[in-house]
Amino acid sequence: AEQKFDVVVVGSGGAGFSAAITAKNAGANVVIIEKMPTVGGNSLITGGQMNVPGNWVQKKMGIEDSIDQFVKDTLKGGDYLGDPEMVQILAEQSLPAAQWLRDYIKVDFYKDQLFQFGGHSVKRALIPKNHTGAEWISKFMAKADELQIPIHTRTTAKALIQDQSGRVIGVEAEKNGKTITYLAKDGVILATGGFGANVEMRTKYVPELDSRYGTTNARGIQGDGIKMAEKLHAKTHNMESIQTYPVCHVDSGVIALIGDSRFFGAMLVNKEGNRFVEELERRDVISRAILSQTNQQAYLLWGNEIEQIADVVSIHKDEFNELNRKGQMFKANSIEELADKFGIDKAQLMAQVERMNGFAKQGKDTQFNHRGKLQTIMQPPFYMLVAKPSVHHTMGGLVTNTKAQVLDVNDKIIPGLFAAGEVTGMTHGSNRLGGNAITDVTVFGRIAGKQAANN
Ligand code: ADP
Repeated sequence: AEQKFDVVVVGSGGAGFSAAITAKNAGANVVIIEKMPTVGGNSLITGGQMNVPGNWVQKKMGIEDSIDQFVKDTLKGGDYLGDPEMVQILAEQSLPAAQWLRDYIKVDFYKDQLFQFGGHSVKRALIPKNHTGAEWISKFMAKADELQIPIHTRTTAKALIQDQSGRVIGVEAEKNGKTITYLAKDGVILATGGFGANVEMRTKYVPELDSRYGTTNARGIQGDGIKMAEKLHAKTHNMESIQTYPVCHVDSGVIALIGDSRFFGAMLVNKEGNRFVEELERRDVISRAILSQTNQQAYLLWGNEIEQIADVVSIHKDEFNELNRKGQMFKANSIEELADKFGIDKAQLMAQVERMNGFAKQGKDTQFNHRGKLQTIMQPPFYMLVAKPSVHHTMGGLVTNTKAQVLDVNDKIIPGLFAAGEVTGMTHGSNRLGGNAITDVTVFGRIAGKQAANN
C-alpha cells in the first residue's frame, strides 16, 4: 500500500505533535505515525514542567530572569557540551512556544506556582495541571483531531526512503505485518524519542547501564529514529551522555513522582537504617550510591512537616495507591512501623532520624552536607517509599542545524529529513537539566514542522 502526504511525522510525543500541528497550520497535508497502540511516548509520562525564562508566572511572582541566564544555566549544567547556538534558540523561542501551548493548544498551566529544578538559578518551570505530561498530550490530541491530522498507531517506521539524488522522500512502515509506504513530498520529521529503553544500544555507549537499571521510558523508546538516520550516514553527537534518575519504582522502573519529597528534605536510607549519600547530589552520583547498597535499593522517608510543604502524596494520590497496593510505599503513625514493613534495622534508623532532626534544627548537615533546607521528621503521619535508579534520558542523538535539518557525517544537510526532540543531541550536553526537555521538544518540534512544510 502507498499513501501520499506533504509531511510525514514519525512519533507522537511532544515533538511529533508540535511538529505536525505546526506543519498543518503552515498548509501541509500531514500524517503522524506511531508504533505503539497509544500516543504520547515519554512525553505522556513526564512531570511535564517546562522551563521558560521571562514567563508570565515569574512576572506575577516578581521573579527576575533572562534569556541569557537560562542559556548560562543550561550550558553549564551540561558541562558545556551543548551547542551554544541551539541553546540560544531554545531560550529565545521558549516563551513564544509556551504561549502557543497555553493559548492555542489550551494547555492548562498553574497560574501562581513554578518549579525550580537543580542547576537553574531561579524558579522558571511552568507546571501543567496535575503535574503530568498527560495534560499537554491530551490537549495535543484534541487539537490534532480538530485539525483532522490523521494519527496512524501500531504503525512502525522501519526505513527512510531516498530518491536518486539522496533526498528523503518517504518512510517505509509496517502495520500488522504488512508494509505501507508513506510518501512525503516536502519532508519527513523524525520525532521518535531517545533510546533509554534499549539496553543493548545504551550499553554500547555506556557499559555500566546494563539491566540492573530499569528505565523510566515508555516501551517504544528504542532509538529507531537514530538507527534509521544512521543508515543514511547521519551524524550523531554526545551518545555517551545518558542520564539516570535515582528514585524510581523498583518493579516497573517508572519515575517516582511522589519521591519529589526529596527536594523538600526527605531522607534516603539503606536497609541498615543509615544515610549513604547527600539527597540532593547529582542524579548519577545518587544512582550509583543506591546500586551499591544492600539489595541495590534505598528507602525514602519523610513526615508531616515535609508533606505539608511538598504536598506530594495528595498530588500523586494514584501513584500512592498503586505503590501501596504493591507493598512499595506505606504511610504510618510511627517510623518504627515503617521500618518493620520494609525490614529495616530499627534501632539504627531511629538513631539516624534523630541525628537528621538535629541537622534540621541547627540548619547544618555535618554528615553529608545537604545543600537544601532540611525539615524535621517528627510529626506523623510518616511516609516511606522503596526506590532504585533507572535510565531516564539520552542526551545524545542526531546532529541538526537551526532549521531542524539532519546533518550527515560530513556536516552536509540530508535533504528532506528533519528531526526534533530526544532523538536529537544538540541542547542538553552531558546532563539535561530538569524541565528542559519539554522546552526542547516544543521549540524544535515547531521549527521542524514549519521548515518541513515550507521545504
Ligand atoms: P519526544 O519527547 O522527543 O517527543 P517521546 O518519547 O515523547 O519523544 O515520543 C516518541 C514517540 O515515538 C513514542 O510515542 C514512540 O513510541 C514513537 N516511536 C519510536 N520509534 C518509532 C517508530 N520506529 N515508528 C513509529 N513511532 C515510533
